Amino acid sequence: MAPISQKSLSKRVLGAAALAIALPFAAVACGGGDSGGGGGDGDSIVIGTKFDQPGLGMQNPDGTMSGFDVDVATYVAGELGYTPEQIEWKEAPSAQRENLIQNGQVSFIAATYSITDARKEKVAFAGPYLITGQSLLVNADNTDITGAASLENNKILCSVSGSTPAQKIKDEYAGVQLQQYDTYSACIEALRNGAVDAVTTDEVILAGYAAQSPGDFKIVGEPFSEERYGIGLKLDDAEMRTQINDALTKMEESGAWKEAFDKNLGPAGITAPAPPPLDN
Ligand code: GLU
Repeated sequence: MAPISQKSLSKRVLGAAALAIALPFAAVACGGGDSGGGGGDGDSIVIGTKFDQPGLGMQNPDGTMSGFDVDVATYVAGELGYTPEQIEWKEAPSAQRENLIQNGQVSFIAATYSITDARKEKVAFAGPYLITGQSLLVNADNTDITGAASLENNKILCSVSGSTPAQKIKDEYAGVQLQQYDTYSACIEALRNGAVDAVTTDEVILAGYAAQSPGDFKIVGEPFSEERYGIGLKLDDAEMRTQINDALTKMEESGAWKEAFDKNLGPAGITAPAPPPLDN
């Protein structure tokens, strides 16, 4: 076997030296802010929410965030020791929520996120902080869709992958032609241009879209599920779950919860219910 030449050896040494110099810089670059999971004493906290659901989780054209979920999450972050300026918002589409939490890309998620037994195998939930139910949205001039059963008549229904409303349609209304998009705003555009006949998801979400485009859409029928919104977090983080539940209790008892509800969902014509009791 040929001995290692002097040249390649010095290259290796140089390479190792370069690596040794480069590493401390890389460490500094990563250490600039505690933007991963965990949180508490870092510079920032990453929170997952929706970016396209008016009244709930919305990124406005000027980059600011608004909505009931955003206000609840901001209050909770405040109780955990973070100012609003220290919050880094991350879009959390329905199908990606468990992954974002499990991978530590967010500290917690407030994103119209229903507490379910299947999800509880992967993540923990604080809350619930709101209860709503699945409903249907159609164009304002529609007359033949009156409830989920009327969709079995060759209608095309839009919902979002990884959501509980899409799952319920698959489980209980197998005759309905379901199209699954990544976001509800994409479903709303498809409804507007006639590519689908109806959109299904939680009533508060549909009411937000209806309020955003007055006269264009209407909610039909009665809610046909119970959706209990929780704040999703790491499965084994019992301490953070308690902290978030304490924050929700404080928000509800202080009147800040009702204030946030009225501000964000009042314009959609929804009156604030009593906040639901927290799960054990
Ligand atoms: N609350 C339902 C869910 O968590 C529907 C809303 C959503 O997809 O965010 O799946």
